[in-house]
Amino acid sequence: MNIHEYQAKAVLREFGVPVPRGIPAFSVEEAEKAAKELGGPVWVVKAQIHAGGRGKAGGVKVVRSIEDVKREAARLLGSTLVTHQTGPHGKEVRRLYIEEGSAIDREYYLSALVDRATSRVAFVTSTEGGVEIEEVARTHPEKILSFSVDPATGFMPHYARRVARALGFGREVAKQAEAVLPKLYAAFLAKDMSMLEINPLVVTKGGELICLDAKIGFDDNALYRHPEIVALRDLTEEDEKEIEASKYDLNYVALDGTIGCMVNGAGLAMATMDIIKLYGMAPANFLDVGGSATKDKVAAAFKIITSDHNVKGILVNIFGGIMKCDVIAEGVVAAVKDVGLRVPLVVRLEGTNVDLGKEIIAKSNLNVTSGDDLDDAAQKIVRAVKEAA
Ligand code: GDP
Ligand code: MN
Repeated sequence: MNIHEYQAKAVLREFGVPVPRGIPAFSVEEAEKAAKELGGPVWVVKAQIHAGGRGKAGGVKVVRSIEDVKREAARLLGSTLVTHQTGPHGKEVRRLYIEEGSAIDREYYLSALVDRATSRVAFVTSTEGGVEIEEVARTHPEKILSFSVDPATGFMPHYARRVARALGFGREVAKQAEAVLPKLYAAFLAKDMSMLEINPLVVTKGGELICLDAKIGFDDNALYRHPEIVALRDLTEEDEKEIEASKYDLNYVALDGTIGCMVNGAGLAMATMDIIKLYGMAPANFLDVGGSATKDKVAAAFKIITSDHNVKGILVNIFGGIMKCDVIAEGVVAAVKDVGLRVPLVVRLEGTNVDLGKEIIAKSNLNVTSGDDLDDAAQKIVRAVKEAA
């Protein structure tokens, strides 16, 4: 789960991490009130969307009067920001963050994430702040320092000294880094983050080390431990189909292609997506209905797929193990009876209760094509979609 910048900064503030003062605003009036409360003389008006790259897209404005705060707030609220992270459709700005302006001397990059290779929290830092780290990694890998933290010792001072050296901090700033970095690590652990990105981390003209931007992703599997984090969820930032899927505990990710897929098991889902690509089309989604799906869950999954207007054909590919083929068949039939079927459907069933499953579909009188195996099913759905076009 992701949260907004202003929420991320509030989380970090709880741990004593230095962030600029700021107030969220949902309207121009609130933005004006926030600006007056902060006092100026410089403010930053920041669009709050779950995507970075706002600065370049005009979503972050440094201004010097209340009038300009109001003008930028009016311009941004309700507008759609297209950044390199939003995709071509962009994201609508519904919230702003009004911050006190900082006089930046230098910008740096700092992030923490779970490194699967070492099973530790790793830090990545670079002198090239404000720039995309992927770009730095490609063009100047020598400008990136990364290290992982030994969980037995926690965040030791020598880690901070390494960061300070790599970023070329003087003694005063290095001392601040030694105080701030363990706090970031503590916040990361305590809140079960999966990613924490401070880009930029800045040193101000006054010699202060502060986190000027903050992006946090949380481990969904640990959210049950953090109701205060779940409360920060902004559903307007998420794909409607993904929200619906999460209600039914389905692993669903919307994609750009035209073939809707309903599969059980993440590995089989990946293989199904690959084979669709192999035969020249692209999947409209990743969907793993899981091993313990009920008829209702399958029906919900099917409805989510058919509600996507990019979907021009559906491939159901089930290997019945714990999940039984007849349950899948009943769910599909129930969903089609409920919402109809406007695109070709190919079903490939294999495994437990496969004959019963096939019988249920055959008796339903639905216009379903049966696939013998994965290869056959993928070819059939691709052909059917091409013919229907
Ligand atoms: P992002 O583009 O979505 O990552 O948004 P950021 O919060 O990182 O802001 C983008 C850029 O705006 C930063 O890299 C800074 O250069 C600039 N910026 C943000 N806040 C301030 C500020 O308080 N003062 C100044 N001078 N520039 C700022
Ligand atoms: Mn940033």
